[in-house]
Amino acid sequence: MQETQKEALVQKMHAEVGRLKTEVVRLKEVTKPVAPDDSIGRLSRMDNIVNNSVNTAALTKAESRLAGLEYLLRNIDDPDFGYCVECGEPIPHERLMAIPGVRLCIQCAE
Ligand SMILES: [Zn+2]
Repeated sequence: MQETQKEALVQKMHAEVGRLKTEVVRLKEVTKPVAPDDSIGRLSRMDNIVNNSVNTAALTKAESRLAGLEYLLRNIDDPDFGYCVECGEPIPHERLMAIPGVRLCIQCAE
């Protein structure tokens, strides 16, 4: 991988880390357990439970993507960086830029 491509990618990954951190904070806020409050009413409590499970899933996903990106950024000089973890082929730069932190080539991801 060319140095300039790598630099662009590192910038992209840092931007994505920043975005994910904001997202994790927001999701943690919305997944906080709500105190039972009769003024909410039964129906909206049901809504809350449903929304919460969706948000909790989103939070788990965001946290694992964040951990993955932070790991990659720490190991950016790893010679395997930018290669598919499945088949070992280089991952096209466009794909790396489109999905920061992606570790599979298009074929293996399918
Ligand atoms: Zn592959």
